[in-house]
Amino acid sequence: MKKHQSYYSIVFLSIICMFLARAPLQAQQIFSGKAYPLTYFRQPLDISPPALAGSFGELRANHFHSGIDFRTNQREGYPVYAVADGYISRLRVQNSGFGQALYINHPNGYTSVYGHLQRFSPKIAAIVKNLQYQGKTFELDNYPNETLIPIRKGEVIAYSGNRGSSGGPHLHFEIRDSKTEETINPQFFGIIIPDNIPPVIHGLYFYRLNGRHFDQNIPKQSIPIIGSNGNYSSKAVLNLSGEIGFGIVATDRHNGKSGTNGVYSIQLQVDGKTVFTSALERFAFENSRAVNAHIDYPSYLKTRVKIQKSFVEPGNPLQIYSNLVNGGRILFTNGETHQLKYIVTDATGNASVVQFSAKAAKENYVPAAEMPGTIFKYSQEK
Ligand SMILES: [Zn+2]
Repeated sequence: MKKHQSYYSIVFLSIICMFLARAPLQAQQIFSGKAYPLTYFRQPLDISPPALAGSFGELRANHFHSGIDFRTNQREGYPVYAVADGYISRLRVQNSGFGQALYINHPNGYTSVYGHLQRFSPKIAAIVKNLQYQGKTFELDNYPNETLIPIRKGEVIAYSGNRGSSGGPHLHFEIRDSKTEETINPQFFGIIIPDNIPPVIHGLYFYRLNGRHFDQNIPKQSIPIIGSNGNYSSKAVLNLSGEIGFGIVATDRHNGKSGTNGVYSIQLQVDGKTVFTSALERFAFENSRAVNAHIDYPSYLKTRVKIQKSFVEPGNPLQIYSNLVNGGRILFTNGETHQLKYIVTDATGNASVVQFSAKAAKENYVPAAEMPGTIFKYSQEK
């Protein structure tokens, strides 16, 4: 009997090991340390399993995506449910933007937002119609007080649609901090999107910064990489000198009907020490345009490829960065070979790693004299 037990436990352990070996690398999630309620909100749609056409913080033209886009099987008219008790705090009807949108303030200090709606529930539609008659306008941006339209968790508040600036039927959904109006990744509130697929690394670059501000004149070079399934590396022998910045191109998919979405965090390590981290946990709308300071914007204008830089320019207002050493600018001056490693995760914690090494020149580093008038301003382009 005993013999059988140990045999079974060995089989059991082997199965666990096989499972662990196959499971993608799960990264320790990078957080601001804020604790978000995990069971307070329900899913806004009943489509199962939920699938995203767009992820939180995804790099869009001139902004970070402020919410998640739920797929609705290329159709409109799915019931949209209030994710928790609260009251309608904002009614919005626009020709562009979200088209028709609802905002619900919840007593726990968060606001949920539902965009591109086809139509409101009859109770809300009647109030909207009234307001439109009163104001003699179709477009509307109204802030009802908390007694006018109370809402229960799970109540049908609207039907999903494709109105406003929408490229196909979907539900745009956000969770915001009601006070600061910062938008926060809904996947950190227990809104679960099944995902065990690590991000895909498409490209790696380095920039010869040498004390200069980043702009289109900074020499850029691609680093060839190989690999898949979360493990990437470069066989290239990099010889670097002076002050260098790095950049990476990465996208993410989740299980099932996924769009090509954005990654959550990017971490760069030199000889095991983190010198740069970006994590799209939350951001303020007024900083969303700074997406153009986050990416290599001159390259994007030329090629449409979004290289995420791993060095932060002065004046970049985004608060998505942490663990910065010298702003992510790395000196290659000591004649030694350094091990570099990028760790890229999605919002579920699946991680991809790229490893490469670089030999530093032995030199007395003298930063180049600053070129006049070359500070790149992310707000230049409209
Ligand atoms: Zn959206």
